[in-house]
Amino acid sequence: MTSYCDTELFIDGAWGAAAAGATIDVVNPATGARIGGLAKAGIADLDRALAAADRGYRIWRATAAFERARIMRRAAELMRERADVIASILTQEQGKPLAEAKGEAMASGDIIEWFAEEGRRAYGRIVPARTPSVQQLVIKEPVGPVAAFTPWNFPINQAVRKIAAALAAGCSIIVKGPEETPASCAELVRAFADAGVPAGVVNLVFGVPAEISDYLIGHPVIRKISFTGSTTVGKQLAALAGEHMKRVTMELGGHAPVMVFEDADIGAAAKAMAMSKIRNAGQVCISPTRFLVQNDAFDPFVAAFVETIGKVKVGDGMESGTQMGPLANERRIPAIEALIVDAVERGGKLLAGGARIGNRGNFFEPSVLVDVPIEARIMNEEPFGPVAVINRFSTTKEAIAEANRLPYGLAAYAFTESASTMHALGDQVEAGMITINHLGLALPELPFGGVRDSGYGTEGGADALEPYLVAKLVTRSYA
Ligand code: NAD
Repeated sequence: MTSYCDTELFIDGAWGAAAAGATIDVVNPATGARIGGLAKAGIADLDRALAAADRGYRIWRATAAFERARIMRRAAELMRERADVIASILTQEQGKPLAEAKGEAMASGDIIEWFAEEGRRAYGRIVPARTPSVQQLVIKEPVGPVAAFTPWNFPINQAVRKIAAALAAGCSIIVKGPEETPASCAELVRAFADAGVPAGVVNLVFGVPAEISDYLIGHPVIRKISFTGSTTVGKQLAALAGEHMKRVTMELGGHAPVMVFEDADIGAAAKAMAMSKIRNAGQVCISPTRFLVQNDAFDPFVAAFVETIGKVKVGDGMESGTQMGPLANERRIPAIEALIVDAVERGGKLLAGGARIGNRGNFFEPSVLVDVPIEARIMNEEPFGPVAVINRFSTTKEAIAEANRLPYGLAAYAFTESASTMHALGDQVEAGMITINHLGLALPELPFGGVRDSGYGTEGGADALEPYLVAKLVTRSYA
């Protein structure tokens, strides 16, 4: 096991303590034990980071896209070379099984590489002019220094999408990383620094989230905001960004519907979705949550789902064979318990799980509720934990209406062999992403983002670079 070290701030190309010397404890969610400390930034540190990001931006935007890509590709290689060490750090602070942690570190390499290449294709265009003596150029320029706020569920993956897109576009960035899980996010930043990203281009701070976001979003150096987290906080930050006329990308909560039709391979769908539900202990914005199963498929689907989830090995992510680790934060335990109690009180049936496991670490049983009335809180609030709710439907129209009932619109899942049903789902489900008959989300080359209360802007695919670019017109006459 890699030993867990304290995490410092990374400002202007150097690691260091906070000016005031303040720190925050970091706890292993599998044991509840303190495993390290974290430098807690104050305003003086943020001012240094802002000045560094301002200088870094001027250097980086003047660096050729070809050279930027070369350095970024090196960062991708470093993440892959260091994946085993980083995975161990990530599991100790976040709880997810080691294999998932390694997968996250390796996937960051793919994301960095993809953006590195895409940055070389941030083409402008020449627009035909109305007179022969005029030339009209549309130039893609970086938007400027970015402030990014990233959460604890995927400390590497949520940060890398923002850092890689910003750097590919020629922006500098200040990341406010996750206080609960700082060291793996710091390893990501270290890979960029070690790869040769100039001082000031990437900066990493931690502290009191609201203090940092208030200060950075309002500061004139910052030109763009990107946030991943809850819808409630996202709305507050988007409002603040609006006040200061800052560009925003918001990747917020979801409540993903899963529509399983009678013509699907029910057993395969149940097994795949049960394993997807327990990934990262359900602390995933695209986690499948509201299962809608067509009447005749309901019993076999529930039986296969409960059987699969019942065999999941829950434990410390560092132990071999563990399939689901603890919840990352203790506060999620009462939150999830309350949702389950409410669902049962309103007539839902609990077929598996429902309670905390033991009293050391934040372990929670993989849980399955069925026939839950739509008034229950869990049918309306994101559980962000290992809880699935399985209800029935009769017609495609009914399934789509329920899928679209909530204000969220991030991911949706479906299983059907019917081409016309697939077409109806692709056309009518209000979500940023829908995956049918397989788990096909979150690849670097595909759009990743939501609609409605799940936010706006995409963090994957060719469109993900655009929010970091400005289309500037240069029109010139040679007359
Ligand atoms: P929370 O709302 O307190 O925090 C969510 C994230 O936002 C955290 O990373 C936190 O540090 C950050 N944050 C909170 N207030 C902030 C502020 N004023 N400025 C900047 N950042 C701020 O909730 P939580 O208990 O940490 O997590 C629970 C909920 O958060 C979940 O139910 C889920 O909806 C949401 N969440 C979503 C994602 C995602 O991937 N979209 C990730 C983590 C949490």
